[in-house]
Amino acid sequence: MPAVLMKGAPLAARIREEVAADVAELGHVGLATVLVGDDPASHIYVDHKHKAALEAGVESHDHRLSEETSADELRELLEQLNGDDRVDGILVQLPLPKHLDGTAATRLVSPTKDVDGFHPVSAGQLYLGHPTFVPATPAGIMELLDEHGIELEGRRAVVVGRSQIVGKPMAHLLLARNATVTICHSRTVDLAAHTRAADVLVVGVGHPHLVTVDMVKEGAAVVDVGITRQPEGLAGDVHPAVEEVAGHLTPVPGGVGPMTIAILLRNTVLAARYRRGVLAFP
Ligand code: NAP
Repeated sequence: MPAVLMKGAPLAARIREEVAADVAELGHVGLATVLVGDDPASHIYVDHKHKAALEAGVESHDHRLSEETSADELRELLEQLNGDDRVDGILVQLPLPKHLDGTAATRLVSPTKDVDGFHPVSAGQLYLGHPTFVPATPAGIMELLDEHGIELEGRRAVVVGRSQIVGKPMAHLLLARNATVTICHSRTVDLAAHTRAADVLVVGVGHPHLVTVDMVKEGAAVVDVGITRQPEGLAGDVHPAVEEVAGHLTPVPGGVGPMTIAILLRNTVLAARYRRGVLAFP
């Protein structure tokens, strides 16, 4: 029997409706984005974020800086946004141009406004088991797994990829739910031996069709985070034939992708609650 497809759009739409209701209740919520340079994909991502923000009633502050922006200019803008009462959440769109340091820039965002969850305080809170802002992609994956009733406690979860944005936070979220977690990466020996043992398999690598049908346990829940643009369209990290053995599978496109912006907006509402003292910031 083919896998149940875990589609992101219906769940993302529901979360966005909840965000709109929360924004109406809070009265005002503001999100600032900072984009440096001309990367066309980054401009498209930021456009999508603003469109979704506006639809949810979130006030957008769209800062697009030239490719030549200096580290000092970027710091000044982030400091100004940190102190701006109209701004609840701030995100720096990555990657930055080569002369700027993305890690340093994300550290300049106030931890109370860090809606991307990339600041060391946010990462540390997640590591310690007291999450504040969780990166949107792995947080969205947890929502999708829960929506489909995927059991996590005591199950073997394998995460392929160990980036700050996807793999590492994903592994911590699964661990927090009492899964037994293995993290694989580019130096892992015999990747297939690990993936075949997985009840829950999350793949975030960026290598089209890396995970083939022989690498997946029958009935496993498989989450395909990868997106690679190819002439014939978008390709995931999981071969489409995996649908024949998996119990659940996220499609590409239309699986994880739609969840990311919905969770970013939810994080912005969380930031507004922290700033208003509705929730205590740890
Ligand atoms: P990244 O920073 O390049 O990290 C890729 C990870 O994959 C690294 O940890 C790398 O290991 C590991 N890796 C590389 N080759 C491997 C191999 N042959 N076997 C096992 N592991 C391997 O990428 P990312 O930012 O996490 O993104 C990963 C993918 O997810 C990309 O396709 C990206 O477009 C997509 N993505 C999608 C969304 C969404 O909303 N749907 C959001 C974010 C990312 P090392 O650490 O050893 O180098």
